[in-house]
Parts: sequence; C-alpha cells; structure tokens
Amino acid sequence: MAYAITQSCCTDTACVSACPVNCIHPAPGEPGFGSTDILHVDPGACIDCGACADACPVDAVLPVDQLSGPQAVYAERNRQYFEREPAPSSAPAPRFPRSLPAPAAALRIAVVGTGPAAGYTVRSLLRCTDAEITVIDRNPVPGGLIRFGVAPDHPATKRISDSFAVSYRHPRVRMHLGADVGRDISHQDIAEHHHAVVYATGADGARTLDIPGEDLPGSIAATDFLGWCNALPRIPPAAIDLSGERAVVVGNGNVALDVARLLLADPGTLAGTGIAEHALTALRASTVSEVVVIGRRGPADAAYSPKEFLAVTQMPGVRVVVDGDAKVADEIATAGDGSPAALLRDLPVEPVDWAASPGTGRRLVLRFHSAPLAARGSGRIEVVHVSDRHTGTRDIPASLLIRSIGSHGVPVPGLPFDGDSGVIPNAGGRVSPGTYVVGWAKRGATGGIGTNRDCAAETVDSLIDDAAAGLLTAPDRGARAFSRLIRRRTRTGTRLHPRRDHRQIAEQGRR
Ligand code: NAP
Repeated sequence: MAYAITQSCCTDTACVSACPVNCIHPAPGEPGFGSTDILHVDPGACIDCGACADACPVDAVLPVDQLSGPQAVYAERNRQYFEREPAPSSAPAPRFPRSLPAPAAALRIAVVGTGPAAGYTVRSLLRCTDAEITVIDRNPVPGGLIRFGVAPDHPATKRISDSFAVSYRHPRVRMHLGADVGRDISHQDIAEHHHAVVYATGADGARTLDIPGEDLPGSIAATDFLGWCNALPRIPPAAIDLSGERAVVVGNGNVALDVARLLLADPGTLAGTGIAEHALTALRASTVSEVVVIGRRGPADAAYSPKEFLAVTQMPGVRVVVDGDAKVADEIATAGDGSPAALLRDLPVEPVDWAASPGTGRRLVLRFHSAPLAARGSGRIEVVHVSDRHTGTRDIPASLLIRSIGSHGVPVPGLPFDGDSGVIPNAGGRVSPGTYVVGWAKRGATGGIGTNRDCAAETVDSLIDDAAAGLLTAPDRGARAFSRLIRRRTRTGTRLHPRRDHRQIAEQGRR
C-alpha cells in the first residue's frame, strides 16, 4: 500500500528530498517541475516508509487507504501521472546550497515581507550564512499572502506558515511588524543599517479591466475579497455586500475558483477555518446563489489547475454547469487528456437563460469565449455586459463583479521598477550588489507557494556570491540603532510621505 499526494500539495519538495527511493515526481530539474499543480508518488516504487508524509509541511501526503471523500480521487491522480510520464530511471543530481564561510563580523541582512518568498529566503539565509536577519512587514501579523491571500477553507495550505514561524523565532532573526517601507522607513534607511536588503514584497496591485462602470460599488478585486475573508486590516468588514443573487467573476485562474468556492460554500463548513468573523457572518446571511466564472478564451485555455477545479466540483449541494452550445461541447469532448477542457467532460453543457433569475439551489456557471465590456447600474453594479461569440454581446444581471485577472507588482520607492512586467528588474535576484529581490516581485505574479523555494535559493546564492566577492558595504549603524529608528518612525506617527498610503502606491503599479 503506497502513499499519495493530495489537494493541499504546495510543491514545496521537502518530500522529494526525504524519499529514500526517489519515487516522487516531477522533482526539481525534471521535465514538468513547476507546471504540475501537485507532485505525485509512484505507487509502483513507493516502499510505504512514510518519510514523505513526515516531511510535508502541509500534510498533503497520506496513505492511500486513508483517502476518503474528496481526497479519494488522488490515489488515481498519482497513479495516472506515471502512465503519462514514466518515472526517470535516475535521480536528479543533488543540489548543494552554497554557503558562506563565517566572516569576522556577521553579515546583517534585511528581508522585507513575510509571505512565502520571504519565508523561504529567511530559512535559506539561516542555513547558508551566519547572518543576523531583520524581517520587516507593514502588516501587524506575519504571513503575507499565506495569511491574507490563501483561501481560509484551505487550512492545510496555511500550515506552511508554521514551518516559516520556526525560522522567524530563530535567535538570529529580529522582526519588525507594522512598518511600511516607503512610508515609515526608506530603502536608504534599511541599506544604511544592513549589508544587504532582500525585497519579498509580492505583487500587491490588482490588475484593472479598464471598462466603463468598473469602479461602481459592487465591483471588487478578487484579492480584496480574499483579504476580506482573511481579516486583512486595510479591507473594512462592510466592504462586501452579499445581498444580491448572482456574482460574476472575471478570469478563470485558481484565485477565481477560490472566490467562487467561498461564495457558494455551505457557511457551516467555513466555521472554524480561521475565516474572519465578519466574513462568516456575511456569508451566513448571503443571498448569492449563483457565481458565473468568465474566461476570455476557450475551455482548453482555462487558467485553473486540476486540484482547484476538482475542489469546486466536489462541493456538496453546488451544481456546476458550462454555459455553452454544441461548439463548446465539442471543444470539451475532443480535448486531449491533460487539457483543462478535459476536466469539464462530466459537466452538463447548456445555454443559460440570463433573463431568468438564478433558480433554487446553488450553482456555479463556467462561461468561455466571453469578456466583460461594461458594468452598469444606478449607484451599484446591476448588470455586467459581456461579449458573446454568437450574439455579439449579452447582459448578465449581477450585484457583484469580482475581478480575478491576476496581480501586478507595485514599485518600492527608491528601487527601479518595470511597469510593464510589474517586477523589480534583476538578474538571478540581484538588483545591484547589496539589493536583491525574490518571489512575485522578482518574476511576476505566477506560481504557487512552493515555486518560491528555488526562487529564494537563487536569490540567496546571488547574495552569497556578492558577499564572497567583497561587494557588500558594511553598514555604519547596527541593529539597535535600526530598532530605535523603526520604533520612532512607527510609534510617533512620523511618516516619510504622509499623504502616500498603500492605495496610492498600489495605483502606481496598476496597468
Ligand atoms: P492567473 O492564473 O494568471 O489567471 C488570471 C485569469 O485572468 C486568466 O483566466 C486570464 O485569462 C484572465 N485575464 C487576465 N487579464 C484579463 C482581462 N483583461 N480580461 C479578462 N480576463 C483576463 O491569476 P490568479 O488566479 O490570480 O493566480 C495567480 C497565481 O497564483 C497563479 O500562478 C495561480 O496558479 C497561483 N495560485 C495558486 C493557487 C493554488 O495552487 N491553490 C491558489 C491561488 C493562486 P488568460 O488566460 O486569457 O490570460
């Protein structure tokens, strides 16, 4: 009896290193690594030792005979992967992280952010150097996207924070929360107190649709919806009105499915997940019974991953349909195995009558080849006007328009910024000797939590190279002086840019 990797896999790869018989794939360096949504255990090679389950930070690895309910499909998903991709005959070459010989005086390195990219960076710096590390985050609690962006009904995924918390509690780490770089302290301030600064600031700007009516009340970015569910301080509890019947979500990536799932879930299943109290209360009182997820391309180009798609189809009491005609049905029927369209094969494909109110019961409608053209309503969203392959346009009555079309980096004052790609220009994470970047701020807003592991290793390697080459400038002032500075700036309310708040900075990053 073998083990299998299930829904909450974040491709962290701790299991790959733990496996004594190299039966978990795709491993780093193998074809497909980074593009599959989960890793897979080869049931023919697994020796049932359980080392992978012990190593997994999000409890995604389970014995096959313990898989039940929605997890049951993962025994087959693991097995089928090896039918398509036979396991390589040899193990990938091991990667030995570079390390820095202890210098006379320890390096002082600042990491800005506490999301997954920061977590992996701090862990890597602790392992590979003797550095003292200052961690800075503008929020009052650490976690970044794991704390405020991962859907609260994915508690296993959030568990990766526990492994980062071990690093944050390390005696060589000092954390400053509630301090905003650009508002409370500047890049220059940090650079003057550290040998190097690593920015793990993510991609905090929601992309905009640039359609008329986009700013009407009832229109909201998906990341703000998730922030609301996770008690993100900048999103007020009353930000979301769930008194309508239908929500339109634009974009069909994993974040769009997170939103759809939360809107349609039985609120009883969300209690105890860590969801914000105000969100749970609003969802209990919600009258939204239908969510329409709109993709501008066809089913073969849907951006969701199989595991998130499976999660919505497995929701009790929620009917999932594809709004479409014979042509869409044909695109689904003829899709090759492994295509996102093939996942839709068991769903009914039926034209939806948008003039009618959503019926009884909860329903998720997946609509393809359709993009929003305008949002209309007197005082708030009432109708989303969308393109339609056959009739030209259509009106979908809805009280919520949720834009889930990806995120975009925002500039950090004092650092270069590429407004088109939304990243801080870098080579292997190096912006310039002494200044580094990691995660979505380095490579753009794609990839799940585990993709940051290798990304952080690359950035730390660049930093170590510069340290070894003597390119880092020793700071004039020490840790205590920095702590005093940050306390003064955040406690007395002194601001570098009193009129610049997060929203204004985020606006600059919008496309
Ligand atoms: P995403 O995967 O990039 O999806 C964005 C969606 O928006 C796509 O459907 C895209 O369509 C559409 N879109 C973009 N611009 C548009 C426009 N102007 N008009 C209409 N549609 C537009 O973004 P995301 O869902 O925010 O996810 C970000 C990353 O986080 C992804 O890598 C995702 O896999 C990851 N993530 C992972 C998990 C998980 O593993 N559980 C959960 C959440 C997020 P096109 O494809 O046509 O461009």
